[in-house]
Amino acid sequence: MTARVLVVDDLAPNVKLLEARLTSEYFDVLTASSGAEALKIAGESPPDIILLDVMMPGMDGFECCRRLKADARTRHIPVVMVTALSESEDRVRGLEVGADDFLTKPVNDVALYARIRSLVRLKMLADEWRLRQITNLQLDPGGMSGAGNEDSAERARVFVIDENATHIDRIRRALAADGDTVEIATDPEGGLSVLAEQDFDLVIVSLLLRDADGLRLCARIRGQAKTRGLPILALIEQGDHERLARALDIGINDYLVHPIDRNELLARVRTQVRRRRYQDRLRATLEQNVAAALTDSLTGLHNRRYLSRHLDGLLADARKNAKPLALLMVDIDHFKSVNDTHGHAVGDEVIRVVANRLQQHVRSFDTIARWGGEEFVVAMPDASLDVATTVAERLRRKIAAAPARMDSEGLELPITVSIGIAVASNDGAAELLQRADAALYAAKRAGRNRVASSGESEGSKDALAS
Ligand code: GH3
Ligand code: MG
Ligand code: MG
Repeated sequence: MTARVLVVDDLAPNVKLLEARLTSEYFDVLTASSGAEALKIAGESPPDIILLDVMMPGMDGFECCRRLKADARTRHIPVVMVTALSESEDRVRGLEVGADDFLTKPVNDVALYARIRSLVRLKMLADEWRLRQITNLQLDPGGMSGAGNEDSAERARVFVIDENATHIDRIRRALAADGDTVEIATDPEGGLSVLAEQDFDLVIVSLLLRDADGLRLCARIRGQAKTRGLPILALIEQGDHERLARALDIGINDYLVHPIDRNELLARVRTQVRRRRYQDRLRATLEQNVAAALTDSLTGLHNRRYLSRHLDGLLADARKNAKPLALLMVDIDHFKSVNDTHGHAVGDEVIRVVANRLQQHVRSFDTIARWGGEEFVVAMPDASLDVATTVAERLRRKIAAAPARMDSEGLELPITVSIGIAVASNDGAAELLQRADAALYAAKRAGRNRVASSGESEGSKDALAS
């Protein structure tokens, strides 16, 4: 991951030091020696993250951060305040002006890289999210898909695995006062089974357990399917760099050292929870988009795109297992006159009624798709021509059996369909569809409200021969 890091410090040696260390880790580094210069650079070529010194003459770090967060162009850039002392008061002020994280001078390398990576990842998710919103709005200008862009990091469900009553109490109090729900496990095995069953936004794991290996515990949380993406915040002894490096390798997201600073705890929990919620939302939107791209919005059936893709797989399976595959092409009779007489909305309703009746009378493993305006395709694995003909006849009868009732219009419209059948042979999806279509036209020509098959076609003869 290459990220552009803006380092802001009034002291040149500090800037040089951070620049050298970050460059050696392949970050792109920009530098500024004052708050004003930082604002200018951030506005002109926004970095992915800003490391901001607190104590600077003129505009100090707090004021600089406040202005960055007040400007729409720079608001989304994570800011890490670098404080000379681990003054709790500084952290509170930092939080108030919108800082995303803190580091204490002298800055420890492992901590520095861990924090930058974590925040840059969060920002990338946020950037991707904004991009998708733009795409969604372009696709669906009036839609709601762009609404509610800020993920809340509030009211988190936090799980704590620790055996030290004092730590537990401190964490519980801090988070509960901030509106979070906190659950505790003092024994790792019990904790793991709770995590496997319930949903949390974050888990805090102590690496200072007496009778258990905290690192192994983190590895097992990462290994469990349910908790693979769950953010882990580790509690670690100050100065235990070796263990920290191993924990970061295992995949913990962030850490806290003892004694736990309340504000630092809150800041780190919020950062992780916000990131987790971004991720969840991205995934949900992605799934929704995928589903929407393959579903017909009028009927809820699969659409043509889906069936085209699915048909190749069905054909390959049929060939592999030496089983037949039947295709029905279903078309509503004289549908144009419904539209012409009663309007498009009533036409849509008739399409929906037919879709429903089709769905009710095919097997669960058959696939129904809306192929075009008033045309449907049913793909039936393991159905011979005889079986397909029986099913098609049943569908035709069920659809013709009752009129489509439009209660709102007080209408009862008789409906019938014509159905063409083709059974797969050695030809591909396109030819199969074409034969079903040809059979459909034969049914139309023969007077409509009937079933015809491409039984006499070249394709079937091939099938018999092979
Ligand atoms: P046939 O018995 O030969 O199938 O005659 P038909 O009138 O059903 O067939 P034709 O293909 O001539 O007309 C289909 C009509 O379906 C034309 C088109 O305006 C209408 N149509 C296509 N898509 C939709 C839709 O989504 N909603 C509505 N209401 N009408 C649609
Ligand atoms: Mg028609
Ligand atoms: Mg048609």
